[in-house]
Amino acid sequence: MTFTPASADEPAVVPAVKLRPEILASPPYRQGRPAAADAFKLSSNENPFPPLDGVIDAVVASGAFNRYPDASALALREVLAARTGVSPENIHVGSGSVALLSQFIAAAAGPGDTVVYPWRSFEAYPGLVTVAGATSVQVPNRADGSHDLHALAAAVDDTTRVVIVCSPNNPTSTTVSAAAFEEFLARVPSDVLVLLDEAYAEFVTDADAVQGLRLTGRYPNLVVLRTFSKAYGLAGLRVGWAIGPVEILDAARAAAIPLSVTQPAQAAALASLEREDELLRRVAELADRRDRLHAELTAQGWFIPAAQGNFVWLATGDATDAANDALLAGGIVARAFPNSGIRVSIGEEESVEKLLPITQRIVDLLPVGHPARRLG
Ligand SMILES: *Cc1c(COP(=O)(O)O)cnc(C)c1O
Repeated sequence: MTFTPASADEPAVVPAVKLRPEILASPPYRQGRPAAADAFKLSSNENPFPPLDGVIDAVVASGAFNRYPDASALALREVLAARTGVSPENIHVGSGSVALLSQFIAAAAGPGDTVVYPWRSFEAYPGLVTVAGATSVQVPNRADGSHDLHALAAAVDDTTRVVIVCSPNNPTSTTVSAAAFEEFLARVPSDVLVLLDEAYAEFVTDADAVQGLRLTGRYPNLVVLRTFSKAYGLAGLRVGWAIGPVEILDAARAAAIPLSVTQPAQAAALASLEREDELLRRVAELADRRDRLHAELTAQGWFIPAAQGNFVWLATGDATDAANDALLAGGIVARAFPNSGIRVSIGEEESVEKLLPITQRIVDLLPVGHPARRLG
């Protein structure tokens, strides 16, 4: 028997056992490369602020680590329910909203069913659909990187079980408006599950943008997904939550791997909600930094879609590899999507200072008429 360690550079090895062909054809999840010691890691939309002391204390205090966690995260659900004006049964907690996405997709869609979502959007969607055995239908974004909700609604047919809308959209940072989203919901059949992925909701400053929490209770097929990973800075602890109709949440609970939300994660989420004012001040600071970066990039000659997440999108297209090389050489580790663009997270203030001279050189080299360049 030979054992071949996995490596991105080696050709795929044919496994000895029978595996699902669609899984074999899927790329395994690979995280962005770790940043060098003096580089800024702006590749995962993480919160640059370290955890608050009180949150760390709560994590430490949570631990009888020899015991299983509270399987349903009742204490956390009760607090979230009280804040959102629903019953705790209308809240479901998962080990990150990626886990929740997986549960809802698996609960609704299987072989022969389709899941409709915009593209480009969150990288995890295609793999989660494939693992469920269902088929992806990807609807291209508009030229400005925003969702085309008319085309999305039009792509729904008899095979559709789930439609995903991501606002702000990862990686383009655009939002859908509340009006457009409600128009969209009116067009989607009420027996098709709509997942509104609002992983970056707290960073939104545009008053016209959809706010999922205002819609809960009004649509029988809408589930809104939120996370503690981004705004609350708990990405490493894995905790997210869903709000929606009890019967749909029960189906997700049935599709979940039991006991995966750990007690330290539940404790950290509760402690974060208690310290929300302080955390939201940080969020406001990051949103402010984002707006200044957007303005500076625009002044440099970039066309950058209106940014509402904690990241901006450089639509570098065929120049993506060269642009990413320039960023890496300058100590900026961003997330490059080959032949598409580069997503840059809002990090420390110093990272912005380091970034801007590099982006100026990149945009100056883009040919006139390139989609990432402003006209005129
Ligand atoms: C980061 C992200 C998530 C989820 O993150 P978790 O850490 O699993 O909660 C979900 N959706 C989008 C669009 C994201 O960018």
